[in-house]
Amino acid sequence: MKSIQKRFEINFEKVSEKNFELNFENTKKDILNMHSEEIAKELPNEPSYRSKQIYEWLHKKLVTSFEDMSNLPKSLIQNLNDNFYISAPTVLNRLISEDGTVKFLFDFGSGVVVETVLMTSNYGYSICVSSQVGCKMGCTFCASHIGGWEKNLSSSQILAQVYHAQRDLEARLGKENKIGNLVLMGIGEPLDNYDNVLKFIRMLSDEYGQNLSQRSITLSTCGLVDKIYKLADEGLAITLAISLHAPDDDTRKKTMPIAKVHSMESLFKAANYYFEKTGRRISYEYAMIAGINDSELQAKTLGTKLSGNSVHFNLIPLNPVTEAHLQKAPDANIRGFAKTLEKFGIEVTVRRNQGTDINAACGQLRRTRNETGNNRARGVSNGYKILRS
Ligand code: SF4
Repeated sequence: MKSIQKRFEINFEKVSEKNFELNFENTKKDILNMHSEEIAKELPNEPSYRSKQIYEWLHKKLVTSFEDMSNLPKSLIQNLNDNFYISAPTVLNRLISEDGTVKFLFDFGSGVVVETVLMTSNYGYSICVSSQVGCKMGCTFCASHIGGWEKNLSSSQILAQVYHAQRDLEARLGKENKIGNLVLMGIGEPLDNYDNVLKFIRMLSDEYGQNLSQRSITLSTCGLVDKIYKLADEGLAITLAISLHAPDDDTRKKTMPIAKVHSMESLFKAANYYFEKTGRRISYEYAMIAGINDSELQAKTLGTKLSGNSVHFNLIPLNPVTEAHLQKAPDANIRGFAKTLEKFGIEVTVRRNQGTDINAACGQLRRTRNETGNNRARGVSNGYKILRS
């Protein structure tokens, strides 16, 4: 069997040691969460260029130890060790798929356990990060909300997912391999953790850090209308992806509780505002669910509503979640749905699963661990690859 799948068993001793360290570190400040101006304020007796040096070590060179900051004086390194810590996760599990997809289960201590997926394609490396522990939104086709919402991730905990995956990538395949795209589509609703997510985006795209183009960042929301308006006014150049998953309010309410709060009409208005303010085309995510949202009539309904708008549709064959009892739409329905939308002038991409052999759906790895104490996944991947565009 040619599988290169690797599984890493849990080292409980190591995990509890790390958690102890993190609890201890809670008395110190999280320096990865600070802009260089914030670092400067924390170090009033140091020359101003020091904060920029420290910021670059943390966010460009991705070090995880103050000792590695070789251009700092020893006294400053001691001060940093005494008063700050660098947020970095313990890896509870790491699965590598035959297609190169890597799924991480990260533990940041104090119950903060999240998933991150690194995907590879002809366009380079993309990462999907989590923004919350659990989720309040309750979409029935998603495992992330099962067990409820627990915590928001800090900006540094979202950054640390990217930084760990980048270090892992370089260690496996060489320093020239860089993550070029990022999607906020992992566990959690990013706009429900608004301030931390915004700070994360600004720091990740900072020229003194990873300098990732904002155009390479996609934020996915289930449709928090008021926050979409706010985001549109932030002056960012990120892509907004809206999880739509239905052609009308009644169908949407069957799988997405947020539809009871915000109508599709109000969502489309907010999306248009985002497009007007940013010039960024809206991307709609549509999980194809058998017998729920996959008929030709529903495609026509959707096409009629969005015809003439500058939008892009991603049709995603549903990744079944055991608890939801929902099935993936037949391939013929997915193809037919795409063709119908295209007749209305809408650009469509049909995606296919990546990393299916590592059994790792969004939220499933963490969910399985919470239920069994076992870090092995049993779901399917939340990574997607373009099948037809
Ligand atoms: S699809 Fe997104 S918003 Fe809905 S429950 Fe899952 S993580 Fe939350």
